[in-house]
Amino acid sequence: NPALTQFGNQMSQLTGVRAIMKDIAQTLKANIGEQFINLSPGNPVILPEIEQLWRKYTEELLSSSDYGEVVCRYGQSQGYEPLIDAIANEFNRHYGLNLTHQNILITPGSQSIYFYAANAFGGYSKNGQLKQIVLPLSPDYTGYGGVTLIPEALVSYKPELEIDASAHRFKYRPDFSQLEINETTGCILFSRPCNPTGNVLSEDEVGKIATLAEPYDVPVLIDSAYGPPFPALNFTEMSPVFGENIVHCMSLSKAGLPGERIGVAIGDEKIIQILESFQTNMCIHSSRYGQAIAAKAIASGELAELATTVVRPYYQQKFVIVEATLDESMPQDLPWFLHRGEGAIFAWLWLENLPITDWELYQLLKKVGVIVVPGSSFFPGLREEWGHKNQCIRISLTATDGDIAEGMRRLAKVVTEIYQKS
Ligand code: PLP
Repeated sequence: NPALTQFGNQMSQLTGVRAIMKDIAQTLKANIGEQFINLSPGNPVILPEIEQLWRKYTEELLSSSDYGEVVCRYGQSQGYEPLIDAIANEFNRHYGLNLTHQNILITPGSQSIYFYAANAFGGYSKNGQLKQIVLPLSPDYTGYGGVTLIPEALVSYKPELEIDASAHRFKYRPDFSQLEINETTGCILFSRPCNPTGNVLSEDEVGKIATLAEPYDVPVLIDSAYGPPFPALNFTEMSPVFGENIVHCMSLSKAGLPGERIGVAIGDEKIIQILESFQTNMCIHSSRYGQAIAAKAIASGELAELATTVVRPYYQQKFVIVEATLDESMPQDLPWFLHRGEGAIFAWLWLENLPITDWELYQLLKKVGVIVVPGSSFFPGLREEWGHKNQCIRISLTATDGDIAEGMRRLAKVVTEIYQKS
């Protein structure tokens, strides 16, 4: 085996949910023929209208005179110009902004934006000071666990819990009495809507975070992989928040194009330039084929339209089934709490004082043919002990209506038995 550097070591580890996904893949492979209800995927469903949209614009690209220019040549690192134009127009029109090309960077997937930012702003500064990558509300996207070359730079904060006990619902809130943002902060990062919880931080909460960061010139990256205008996977009213130190980050993945790897960073020119240089060094630019069809779908307005008429209702309806089935099949007297479903493609269930760990629950659910994701992998950067970390599971909304309902009934039965036995 070749000797690894510290970075080599860090980057060759599978973090968080990637390790569990491997276990799930092995389970499915080892039990071929057995019918599992798989409520683990983060991969979006292929919706016919969306597939048709991408097919249509691919055909248009294939027969256009631009084809060679798009696919057979390198382009600018910053991104394919018609796509940058389409995004600037969409955001300026929609949100009354004055974005120019200098405010926009196209990246190979939005995950790469977080990698660039985490390492450009987090880690050891020139004078040796550790600059932190702050996740203001844990749990959050498991992928943040792998974005930094300096693992000790990642710090996340325990939230406050707003509990509606009689309704069996709850919601996380950032705990501003704990959150520390100061000269040791390198950047701030959170998803809105949130994977895994479906939480949407309020505009007020986002504003407070941005205001805390401002005096220290700390970039605030708002991961809007599920946000409006596309994929518009918000089930509650929300508007993107912009500001001088805010980098609004988007992804085409949940709008049906995960295979093409397209992310978009929108923000202050100075920050965008830093991220762009990082990108040039790393991979030159994102796939131009994907960028070209995205440009057409955005410029025509169809992507934003289909996001609200097709993508959002599809997943919102699945969440309704999760809620209804749990309300029906979970005993009233058990301390189960479903996170408010404000967006994204997951439901998040907290089982207070669960007598076993989330990992053990995951194993028991596998035995009744249901696969979920144990929640403990969604707390990257949270160092303190917190029982809650082992009391949650993530339920994907990508399964069929019938599978979701049946999965929730089996889950209710297993969970009830666990509490009864203890
Ligand atoms: N951010 C969040 C919250 C996600 O859920 C995901 C993917 O699941 C990503 C970022 C990465 O998306 P992309 O495909 O744009 O790299």
